Amino acid sequence: MKIGIPRALLYYRYGIFWETFFQKLGHETVLSPRTNKDILTKGEQLSIDENCLSTKLFFGHVAALEGKCDYCFVPRIANLGDAGRFCSRFEALPDMCSNMFRDTGLKILRANIDPEQNIPAKRAYLKLAMQLGASREQAQAAYEAGMAAQMEDFRKKIKLNRALLKKEGIKVLVVSHPYNLYDEYIGAPIIKSIRNLDAVPICSDGVDPREARSKSTEIARYVPWVVSRELLGAIQMYRNQIDGIVLITAFPCGPDSMVNEMIIRRISHVPILNLLLDSQDGNAGIDTRLESFIDIIRFRKEVEQ
Ligand code: SF4
Repeated sequence: MKIGIPRALLYYRYGIFWETFFQKLGHETVLSPRTNKDILTKGEQLSIDENCLSTKLFFGHVAALEGKCDYCFVPRIANLGDAGRFCSRFEALPDMCSNMFRDTGLKILRANIDPEQNIPAKRAYLKLAMQLGASREQAQAAYEAGMAAQMEDFRKKIKLNRALLKKEGIKVLVVSHPYNLYDEYIGAPIIKSIRNLDAVPICSDGVDPREARSKSTEIARYVPWVVSRELLGAIQMYRNQIDGIVLITAFPCGPDSMVNEMIIRRISHVPILNLLLDSQDGNAGIDTRLESFIDIIRFRKEVEQ
């Protein structure tokens, strides 16, 4: 069976697990292409205006899988138990996709992960594997292989950040949800621009997620969202090793509008640039703001020396 995976939202957190899991079960996985103008346009056409840019892109990625797979995998991932909740939009994705694509022939493959309702991830994935015809042993082996691949990926990202922090030059912590950080339309051009300005971008997801969630309480005692906790934790863990922070938000993100405000109020020892992106933005304005931002950091460093 061919299982399509949209290259958007939680793909950038769990994608390696999903690909390994399905492949280990003997299925072929098909990824949607990297974001391009057609994917964005299609996502905007399918979505209501009120959705955030990241969710619009997700729908565009689902559409890009039409005719390319037997099922498109759209799990409902509600929370990580005590570690916090995911954005409520993730809870609605399978229903929204089933409705949106009901006349297209695209079939949605669901999984329901909700530890708060006593459905931990492992149970949900084992159930899904068995629905796809696997034995319990095969399901267990696929789950373990997926987890091992995922852990290895987390370790690689942490190692990369450690190496980047040892480099010479201006270090900028780029803080955003991983699906924004690595998306070709949202974060990737910003990371490239920072490099082109001779600065070193450090991505906020290169941290141990558990440790980051724990560290986040040193900035804000309670934030409901898992990823927001990890972003705050990354800032807390790296705050003395960086020269500036770039916040990237996909308009109109509810969690980021609250958390970014908190970051700006509570982190005062380094300059912060807050970039709010919507589908209208070209790169020219952003490049100019980044250039001024790096100039300010450079100037501060010169004065301090
Ligand atoms: S956290 Fe923000 S960017 Fe992410 S899906 Fe929710 S509203 Fe969109």
